Amino acid sequence: MSIATRAATCTSCGKRLNRKRWYYRNGKYFCKQRCWVTEQEKAAKDAAKADAAKAAKDAEAAKPAPAEAAGGSQQPPETREKPASP
Ligand SMILES: [Zn+2]
Repeated sequence: MSIATRAATCTSCGKRLNRKRWYYRNGKYFCKQRCWVTEQEKAAKDAAKADAAKAAKDAEAAKPAPAEAAGGSQQPPETREKPASP
């Protein structure tokens, strides 16, 4: 809204950002650089997973689906990351 300077919590671990110590990268805020690195790694993994999933889907779409009724259960979208609880 008006003065949304930065997020209140770390994008990676969800910890509240310290007033002075925080780390900004690619439009996201983290409590420390380590969290940014973690997020990067996670994003890379997610991207690879999404890629694999897409490839699998494409492969599936390439061949005719014999029994659509068999795969009736819908999977919920990936759950959002929650702050780690101790
Ligand atoms: Zn963090």
